Amino acid sequence: MTEVRVRFAPSPTGFFHIGSARTALFNWLYAKHTGGKFVLRIEDTDKERNTEEALQVLLEGMRWLGLDWDEGPEVGGKFGPYFQSERQAIYDAYLKILKDKDRVYEKDGALWFRLEGERYTEYDEFHKAEIEKVKNTPVVIEDAIRGRVERTEERDFVIVRSNGEPVFHFVNVVDDIAMGITHVIRGEDHLSNTSKHVELFKAFDAKVPVFAHIPLILKQSGPGKMSKRDKGALIEEYEQRSFMADAVRNYICLLGWNPKDDQEKMPIEMIIERFDFPGVNKGNARFDETKLSALNAEYIRDLTSEDFANYASPILASNGVDLASIDSSYLDKVFGLCQAKIKSLETLYEYVFYFFQDTYEFDAKGMQRIQKGVDPKLLLREVMPIFEHTEEYSKEELETEMQAVAEANERKIFAYFPVIRMATSGLTGGPDLLPMLSIMGRERVLPRLQSFFEKL
Ligand code: GLU
Repeated sequence: MTEVRVRFAPSPTGFFHIGSARTALFNWLYAKHTGGKFVLRIEDTDKERNTEEALQVLLEGMRWLGLDWDEGPEVGGKFGPYFQSERQAIYDAYLKILKDKDRVYEKDGALWFRLEGERYTEYDEFHKAEIEKVKNTPVVIEDAIRGRVERTEERDFVIVRSNGEPVFHFVNVVDDIAMGITHVIRGEDHLSNTSKHVELFKAFDAKVPVFAHIPLILKQSGPGKMSKRDKGALIEEYEQRSFMADAVRNYICLLGWNPKDDQEKMPIEMIIERFDFPGVNKGNARFDETKLSALNAEYIRDLTSEDFANYASPILASNGVDLASIDSSYLDKVFGLCQAKIKSLETLYEYVFYFFQDTYEFDAKGMQRIQKGVDPKLLLREVMPIFEHTEEYSKEELETEMQAVAEANERKIFAYFPVIRMATSGLTGGPDLLPMLSIMGRERVLPRLQSFFEKL
């Protein structure tokens, strides 16, 4: 059996759209699944838009998702160059092949590809029936995902523009032939081009690759496919928002593919093993940020504490937390508390900043609410002795003592929580209060309670 060779053939635009990432990912998965090769080919024929910067956005996004390529930019390979802008000599040679077969003619300065059947002139009565038959024979595409698709390509089409630039259909097919591509896995928006491509493959007497057109990704709500303006559309955005790359990749796998048992969180090795065309849906996929976030949270939860610290530390540092000055066991405890609770590393800093600083603003709405209820000074006066007399703030000890005070004053223990939380963090919500106080310890909690009492 011939080795599977697939390619991802992006035109760099300056963005790495989730739809492109999904196409790259499905190609990569298929190559890994079959033990084949994954080629990255840059379709950079549009000179205006193809900047070095645009290329880097793409390569960086692929690297972030862990999609390594066997051949292409930076790694090379024997079918190079891998930039269409550097392949003109190859296009010239292939153009000559078509010319020699009398499949090219000039009209209005452009070069046109002559469909089969067109070689006979319309008024050739003798061949009329034959012409009609050839012209009306549809191109049959046995799409590995969509099944049998038939299309009739009715008109000749331009392959080289009057300014000498070869057209997408031509270079795309030439490269697929020259690079020995066996499977073309791409977005469904290209399905309409496929009959042109098949006509070209045939004109070159080349083996037509297997086509697999993957469904569109629709935006979160409403009709229409996800555009680059929609939130969550760009891979670079996830990186900036500190999403876990493994989680994003896992989620993108599920956009249009699912294993028979509906399992969602899967290690990539398992996805590679299970991924194949029959599992790819024909219907469109819908982007769902809630599902992505839930998966991201699961990935965070499942990290080892060491890995979590490796992700979390730079995020805190970039927000100005001086990690070197913090006791490592304290840091471990804070990390342990938030790993179990946070949904995204994006909000890590706002979730934990008060563990590392003694001054902060007090949430205004929360303050209003506190002042409307039972006098916060009274509440603090009732519990303060506990915090003064206890040395080790264990969760159990704090709970027993506060429970006793609450009963003595005919209250629920929870009556004290909002004011204590506000005093020690400036917030109305966060991790469970008693474990939080226990981690912060007397040295942080007591002075904060005292100064808050003064403030009131
Ligand atoms: N450059 C084309 C694109 O970005 C490639 C299409 C294909 O995969 O054949 O959509």
